[in-house]
Amino acid sequence: MPNKTVCLLSGGMDSTTLLYHLVNEGDDVLAISFDYGQRHGKELEYAAKTCEKLKVNHRICNIGGVGAFLQGNALTSKDIEVPEGHYEDESMRLTVVPNRNMILMSIAGGYAVSQACNRLAIAVHAGDHAVYPDCRPVFVGYFEKALQVGNYEPISVYTPFLKWRKTKIAKLGQRLGINYEEETWSCYKGGEEPCGKCGTCIERMEALKRIGQK
Ligand SMILES: [Zn+2]
Repeated sequence: MPNKTVCLLSGGMDSTTLLYHLVNEGDDVLAISFDYGQRHGKELEYAAKTCEKLKVNHRICNIGGVGAFLQGNALTSKDIEVPEGHYEDESMRLTVVPNRNMILMSIAGGYAVSQACNRLAIAVHAGDHAVYPDCRPVFVGYFEKALQVGNYEPISVYTPFLKWRKTKIAKLGQRLGINYEEETWSCYKGGEEPCGKCGTCIERMEALKRIGQK
């Protein structure tokens, strides 16, 4: 029996690579994306396009109203500018949406249980750890425990990139045939073109340069 997996898909590099990886592994995959009122909502169009290409069932869960309760950061507060600089800079803490992964993973976990999935896949990676506490291994471990004790059904949390750097993820994606420029969106500012200056733009450019896609 193949794994039946819900994949949290933002439309960025990491989760798109994870989706390709799951499909390549032969999982029966359901993708879920969230509209939480993020400034870079255009990432959702990329998520939808990728699912269409891979023929993966895709649902977008609209929790835009929740964004109003998660203010004080540059991704959901219109009056706070997206900081520029490296991902690991202190200033990037302005991009931490309070408790975001707990909320998104919690809904995705409920979706996975309701669809009789045996796992929930999330593309957190080592580059996230410095800035985002809810991407660290300790959080993922506790979350998995909570999901397991809070439900009757056996379910695991699958995070194959947890200890990977971005370049390793990009290399895997390249092997799986991903054209990152065309198929993914990262920039937090969500403008016409990527700004090239925010943390996620810089991290993305560094990784793509290393694999020769830029
Ligand atoms: Zn940017």
